[in-house]
Amino acid sequence: MEREPVEVAILGAGIAGCALAYHLARRQIGPTVLLDPRTPAAGASGRAAGVVTEQLWNAWDVEVVRESHREYADLCREWDPGAYRRNGFLRFTEQPEKFAPLREAEERLKRWGASVHLLDRAELERRLPEARFGESALGLDSPHDACVDPTALTGIYAEGARRRGVRFELGVPSPGLAREDGRWSVRVPSFELRARRLVLAAGAWTKGIARTLGHPLPLTPYRTQLSLLRPPTPARAEFPSGHDLDTDVYVRPEVNGRILAGNGTGPREADPERFATGGDPEFLEHIASTLGDRWPRWADSEVVASWAGVCTSTPDRRPLIGAVPGAEELFVIAGFNGFGVMRGGGSARRLSVLLSDPDGAEAGALLGPVAPSRFPPGTPGDPPRPGFTLEAGREPRF
Ligand SMILES: Cc1cc2nc3c(=O)[nH]c(=O)nc-3n(C[C@H](O)[C@H](O)[C@H](O)COP(=O)(O)OP(=O)(O)OC[C@H]3O[C@@H](n4cnc5c(N)ncnc54)[C@H](O)[C@@H]3O)c2cc1C
Repeated sequence: MEREPVEVAILGAGIAGCALAYHLARRQIGPTVLLDPRTPAAGASGRAAGVVTEQLWNAWDVEVVRESHREYADLCREWDPGAYRRNGFLRFTEQPEKFAPLREAEERLKRWGASVHLLDRAELERRLPEARFGESALGLDSPHDACVDPTALTGIYAEGARRRGVRFELGVPSPGLAREDGRWSVRVPSFELRARRLVLAAGAWTKGIARTLGHPLPLTPYRTQLSLLRPPTPARAEFPSGHDLDTDVYVRPEVNGRILAGNGTGPREADPERFATGGDPEFLEHIASTLGDRWPRWADSEVVASWAGVCTSTPDRRPLIGAVPGAEELFVIAGFNGFGVMRGGGSARRLSVLLSDPDGAEAGALLGPVAPSRFPPGTPGDPPRPGFTLEAGREPRF
């Protein structure tokens, strides 16, 4: 069998792997091959809501999302303008005990350079006339946030990488991996690559691959759900995505007057090879009751589709991006805690800097907070936690 030398082999054609292939090709790093047993965006990337918001948990997140957001706007403008809309994002609550943490979140996010401001009840109603609020309510608005079509975006990255010479091996069996003579052997029945570097970008599957290689990582795959709904009258195309802190349901506009509504972080570990791909009845009931109370115009929406995908959490909510400790020339980009679409482009660009110059100071500065080496070997994964909370580091959360 032919044994082909390549510079980098990437496992996984989700947004992380495809964006990494794109950025490596732009840096002309050398022959790069991306392998996936499925097709681009067949994993979590093709099941995501595509909300892009700077209302996140730490300064690194805000920077990376801002960088990703800029890149998504540029790429979609060139390749698929319909895949991007700058509609803004709002979090809100009616519960007075959450007002102080929301105010703290505003201060913290402003310190990190995010463009956010608080809205009182009257302002909330003006910004989101579709929603109904009780006596008192407080919201946090980030008007420059956006949402994207994650499948289209992953495809744009894949196509951009392919045009710059990256080879895609899709629909191949999961490759056999071994470290031999200072190279990674990446073997499928029809060919073998001899890669200088191997990158695990396999989303929820990364945990199992790393374990098989003898380098376990503190990742926990978990299931989360989304529904596509058709309201009785079409929703306006640019209403701001809204996250209700009291029910943990978020809603965003979708094409043709439809809406996407989601929540439902499963608190248990899931197996990405064997999980229930459809939405649970309890999930749909929760969405229906939230729409009834909060979004009365959409209470009688028709359920067009309802599905689940598998995301991956880490103990501190930060992803794992960089060299796998104790392993030679093995890298990872995974553990996005449910926010891998919004962080994907910027994270991949940063990893491409590291792969171009592993000892350079630039990569250390760009990826320091998410380096896998922050966890001692053998650190177990934590149970997953809900997504759009107000938590920051170890600060209080709901
Ligand atoms: C319902 C839902 C809603 C979401 N909403 C949002 C949102 O609004 N905003 C946001 O930012 N994020 C959101 N996310 C999270 C986001 O989808 C993920 O964080 C992101 O897609 C992860 O991308 P990835 O490329 O790391 O993994 P994936 O997209 O899962 O890709 C992993 C790929 O690896 C491949 N693979 C598996 N095994 C192997 C192997 N052995 N060799 C090679 N390849 C392999 C798989 O086939 C798959 O294609 C949501 C997720 C879900 C499920």
